Amino acid sequence: MNEIRDVIIENFDTGAAGSILISAGKTRVLCTASLSTDLPGWLASKEPPSGWISSEYNMLPGSTSPRKRRGTDGRSTEIQRLIGRSLRAMVELTSIPGLSIICDCEVLQADGGTRTASITGASVSLMIALGAALDDGRLAAPPTDRLPVELVTAISAGVVDGKCVVDLDYEKDSRADVDLNAVQNQKKEWIELQGTGERAGFSKAQLDEILDLCDAAIDKIRNRQLEFLKKNLSANATRILLGA
Ligand code: UDP
Repeated sequence: MNEIRDVIIENFDTGAAGSILISAGKTRVLCTASLSTDLPGWLASKEPPSGWISSEYNMLPGSTSPRKRRGTDGRSTEIQRLIGRSLRAMVELTSIPGLSIICDCEVLQADGGTRTASITGASVSLMIALGAALDDGRLAAPPTDRLPVELVTAISAGVVDGKCVVDLDYEKDSRADVDLNAVQNQKKEWIELQGTGERAGFSKAQLDEILDLCDAAIDKIRNRQLEFLKKNLSANATRILLGA
């Protein structure tokens, strides 16, 4: 089963420098990237000067049924740390000195794969925010005219009814024997793999099949990210961020 739900990335205006809505089937996440110069205390005196990227993840109460109580629980803490690590893998932090970027992921509708949609969407909103910072001078153009930055893209997969499948919706996720979340960069290197034998163990052959499914799905989703960025970044930012 190598079908994935249709991924749509669209502008969704808020006050943030980068702000997009990502949909993967019925899962929908608003991803904003806000720029500031408020670096964490421990980073402020570091040499060479560095920037920082972090993330917060939240499922809105009405995103699922029954209603989810407002507030940060253990699950959202775990998820926002995963998103933050994935986003920090996008860019060499010393190349954005003094810049702090917080990527907020608000799940509007949850139907499985909210953390992977958040990573894919936040990666795009972060790129848009970096483009805005380059355009208004908050981020100086790098001497080489190319910022060492690349997209990250994520997808879920697993084993359901004995078959390896990719992009689990809630119905599949809730009965999956194996659940795996995969994050990849533009070089097609894995940034993070989280695989769990929830109800049954899995073999090396099954893992290989799952990773092949993830790899092919991520190629398709990355194309969507790039299409959106090429339409929405300035020509200057496109050259510096995408090298195109
Ligand atoms: N879910 C829910 N309420 C919760 C947690 C999860 O309705 O408090 C549903 C939601 O549809 C979510 C799915 O369960 O997308 C799978 O949750 P999981 O923790 O595996 O994370 P996700 O697949 O969303 O990254």
